[in-house]
Amino acid sequence: MEFDWFTLFVLGWIGIGLGTLTFLVVSKIRAPYGRHTQEGWGIMIPNKLGWIIMEMPALLLTPIIALSGPNELDQYSLLLISLWVIHYSNRTIIFPLRIRTSGKKMPITIILSAIFFNSVNGFVNGYYLGYIYDGSMKDNMLSAHMILGLLLFFMGFYINNMADSKLISLRKNSTGYQIPRGWLFEYISCPNHFGEIIEWMGYAVLAWNLPAISFAVWTLSNLIPRTLNHHAWYNEHFEDYPKNRKAVIPKIL
Ligand code: NDP
Repeated sequence: MEFDWFTLFVLGWIGIGLGTLTFLVVSKIRAPYGRHTQEGWGIMIPNKLGWIIMEMPALLLTPIIALSGPNELDQYSLLLISLWVIHYSNRTIIFPLRIRTSGKKMPITIILSAIFFNSVNGFVNGYYLGYIYDGSMKDNMLSAHMILGLLLFFMGFYINNMADSKLISLRKNSTGYQIPRGWLFEYISCPNHFGEIIEWMGYAVLAWNLPAISFAVWTLSNLIPRTLNHHAWYNEHFEDYPKNRKAVIPKIL
């Protein structure tokens, strides 16, 4: 099965449309996993296993499809595939093994919707590199947008991982939730989501193709409402939650 540019273009815009729809849905309904977990969304699966299953399509599909295409991989495609694999190795394997959520479960509906998203997203990003990309970007490796994109990607990756580590370490001595303190948590409730948004915006600036831009739109659509939900949850559950702390963008939102 071969896709042409037009089909990929349409897929990219469908992705952006679905991202917008996701935004509207998750703005109304708190996605029921983690602190917002609820019964009534299908059978419940252990948390760690859920994370591994739902993120695996993204980890595997992009490199496999990119490598199986007729395009010769150059510095540009190899860089994008490497960044992708770095991120998704962490999200699919390292992050689930680190979280302290034993006994917690997530509903199958969340896992199935994430599998759908990760399959479409992994496929189009891999397909672009393996089948569509014309080789022109390898001559621009030191251009301003590539350097800026790379810096944003690594800055976002660092913030995301630091924040996740600090949240995970809150469970060293207790099983419940605590108010996170220090570092970026003094300004925003969810530095991990903030970092993830910067990371994929950086990837889109660096890659500068429709599937990557579509993914950045999806990430924003999914994570901004989740962050607002987390922020509201903290205020509902902790009377002494710092009043000047914003949700995701320091001093703004
Ligand atoms: P959370 O911040 O809700 O949770 C991260 C981990 O820390 C969980 O194990 C959670 O436990 C624990 N935790 C969080 N807050 C506290 C607290 N106050 N006290 C004690 N433990 C706490 O992250 P998400 O589940 O929303 O996301 C996890 C990762 O996945 C993030 O890095 C995020 O950026 C990424 N992600 C990316 C998306 C995308 O569209 N690209 C979409 C969703 C997530 P518990 O599970 O029990 O709540």
